[in-house]
Amino acid sequence: MTSHALQTFLKDNLQDLKDRGLYNEIDPLESANGPVIRIHGKELINLSSNNYLGLATDERLKEVAKDAIDRYGVGAGAVRTINGTLDIHVKLEDTIAKFKGTEAAISYQSGFNCNMAAISAVMDKNDAILSDELNHASIIDGCRLSKAKIIRYNHSDMDDLRKKAKEAKESGNYNKLMVITDGVFSMDGDIAKLPDIVEIAEQFDLMVYVDDAHGSGVLGKGAGTVKHFGLQEKVDFQIGTLSKAIGVVGGYVAGRRELIDWLKVRSRPFLFSTAVTPADAAAATKAIELLMESTELNERLWENGNYLKKGLQQLGYNIGQSETPITPCIIGDEKLTQTFSKRLYEEGVYAKSIVFPTVPRGTGRVRNMPTASHTKEMLDQALAIYEKVGKELGVLS
Ligand code: PMP
Repeated sequence: MTSHALQTFLKDNLQDLKDRGLYNEIDPLESANGPVIRIHGKELINLSSNNYLGLATDERLKEVAKDAIDRYGVGAGAVRTINGTLDIHVKLEDTIAKFKGTEAAISYQSGFNCNMAAISAVMDKNDAILSDELNHASIIDGCRLSKAKIIRYNHSDMDDLRKKAKEAKESGNYNKLMVITDGVFSMDGDIAKLPDIVEIAEQFDLMVYVDDAHGSGVLGKGAGTVKHFGLQEKVDFQIGTLSKAIGVVGGYVAGRRELIDWLKVRSRPFLFSTAVTPADAAAATKAIELLMESTELNERLWENGNYLKKGLQQLGYNIGQSETPITPCIIGDEKLTQTFSKRLYEEGVYAKSIVFPTVPRGTGRVRNMPTASHTKEMLDQALAIYEKVGKELGVLS
C-alpha cells in the first residue's frame, strides 16, 4: 500500500514535469557505449557518451579486468578501513598521484561520492565556500552537506569572485575559505579561468578545489586542466572521475599527503562504503598508465572534436562558449530542444537534449560529445543529419 500523500505527490509532480517538457525518458543501450550504439534495435551514431577516449571498450582494459576478477573475485568484500583495501586499490591511488603530479591520492566509488566526501571532510559550519554558479550537482550537494556558508559567484566572472572573496575574508565571519570550480564545464565545454582563480585564492587565503571530471584525459595532453595551466603546486584538491575519459567507474582526490591522510580517516564514503571492484581498480589503473605512455588517443579526440565543432558552426549552429570537444548546439526553448533531439534520433544520431534544471531555463541544448573512436565518416553522417533536422525545424535558416 502506497501512502495517499506519496501517490498525490508523485502524480502531480510527474505530470507537471511532463507538461513542461522537462521529463527525460531513459533509453537502455543494447550495445557497448561506443561511437555507434544500438537502442530498440536501431543503430545510432553516438554523440552522448563521456567515453571520450574510447577506453570503456578497450581490449587492454578488458584483459586486465578479467585477470583481476580471476585473482580477486568480483567484490572487495569490506569497506576500505576494515579489510576491503586490496593492493590494486593502493596501486590505483599511486598511479593517480603520478598522473596528477601530487604526493598522494585517494579513490572513491564515484566522482559524485568524491565531492560529497571531500568537501564535507574539510569544511564545516564555521567556513565559507565560493562556488561557481554552474558547478556540477555533486559539488552543490557536497557543499550543502558540509553546512558551510555557500557563496555563489557568477559563472567564470573573476570580478565577482574577487569581490565576494574579499567580502568573506574581511567579514571575519569564517574560519576557512575555499573556492570550488569545475575544470571544464560539462554543459558548455568552457574551461575554468584557473590562473585568475589561483591568484585570487592567494590574495584572500582560499583553498583551491578543482573538479576536473571533464578535463582529465582531455586537457593538458590528458593530464587535466590543472596541468594544462601548470598549476599543480597551487591547487589543493584535484578531483576527478574514473568514469569518463578513463572509461571505468570511480572518483578520486589527488593532493598533498596530509590532505589524503585526513580524508582517509574523515571522509565518510571512504569509511562506510565498499570500494570499487577489483576489475574496476585494475582497468582504471591500466587506463591511466596508457594515458601516461602515449598521447595518441588524446590527439585523436581533439582532432574529432575540432572537426565536428567546425562542421556545426559552418552549418550555422550556436555552439556557445565551447573550448573543448564538448560541443553544445544551443536551441533555447525546452520543447523545441526535445523535438530536435528526437528527430536526430529518428534520423540516426543519438545526441541527448539537456534542459532545465540541468541548465538554466531557456538555454536548452543538444550536447555533442565526440570521442577518439569516431571516424570521419561517422562525423560527416552526423553533420548531414544535423543539417537536415535543423532546416526542417527552423533552427537553421
Ligand atoms: N563532477 C562533475 C563535474 C561531473 O560532470 C560528474 C559527472 N556527470 C561528476 C562529478 C560525477 O562523476 P561520476 O559519474 O563518477 O559520479
